[in-house]
Amino acid sequence: MAATARDCYARPMRRPLPFLAIFIAAFPAAMLSPPLHASDIGDLPMQEARLAAVGHRLAVASASWCPELAPQPGWLLGDLRRFAGDERDAARHAYGAGEGAFAAAIAPGSAAARAGIAPGTAIAAINGDPVPTLSDQPTIRIDAVIVALAELDPAAPLAITDTAGQIYRLDATPGCASAFRIERDGPQAAANGKLVRLRLDLARSITDEGELAAVVAHEMAHNILRHRIRLGDDRSARRVRMTEIEADRLSVWLLVDAGYPPEAAIRFWQRHKKPLIRAATHPPRQERIAAIEAEAIAMQSARAADPAARPPLVTAPPPLE
Ligand SMILES: [Zn+2]
Repeated sequence: MAATARDCYARPMRRPLPFLAIFIAAFPAAMLSPPLHASDIGDLPMQEARLAAVGHRLAVASASWCPELAPQPGWLLGDLRRFAGDERDAARHAYGAGEGAFAAAIAPGSAAARAGIAPGTAIAAINGDPVPTLSDQPTIRIDAVIVALAELDPAAPLAITDTAGQIYRLDATPGCASAFRIERDGPQAAANGKLVRLRLDLARSITDEGELAAVVAHEMAHNILRHRIRLGDDRSARRVRMTEIEADRLSVWLLVDAGYPPEAAIRFWQRHKKPLIRAATHPPRQERIAAIEAEAIAMQSARAADPAARPPLVTAPPPLE
């Protein structure tokens, strides 16, 4: 199915229907999110800005070894549809946004920032192709942008058109293929293969940037290692625990490449009492910390021998068994 979608997408395409098929094929239903509530608008843009900055830094720094790359403009996207009723006016004011998917936050120094895209800028078209509106679902226009970007050459510049017709020209910025989102509900942190989601209260609780980076790197690692696909239907506690340890280990490479100390991950796991996922599948804290420490040493010696060394977990992933 993926091959068919790519074949379709190789042609210049402005019709909505083929895109719809690609969209449905490429996007897990679990990504569909409930609307946010007014009480959370307060610091939501601030937490989105933190996640945009940290996520962008991690995604771009490891582009040399990530197996799947996507353009990383440096934005975190919003949509007023995520806010219900009266709350929508508050959000419209907070973001300065209108209709459609818009930049809710911009990573400093990113291609979007350099091109003049600011919070509130609508993403109406990418390289001349309009972002489709497929339903009333609150995040569907955001997800449509993520899917469209993932299909593009990560090493090519981008032309973004806003709803007023202004065109922004973005330098090519390839990065590991993950997008980022803050949610109010659902798991504390999650990765579904394309997206890293952090719950608002978790983001608030992590004031240290390095620790925030550790959590984001852990979730990105799940995406890079294709854990959702590799686990398939067999999500036994033992196999899920293996993916958790793998994500901890790969997070070390993401952190170090982005200039964050891997000790931040250890600090977070020592401090954070409540497991990010169900307890039965959660490796004991000491096991996680030992895995992170061992990986940091292994990475250091691999890079000493070869400055371009790639993580063995990516080049030769062991079977989950
Ligand atoms: Zn995990």
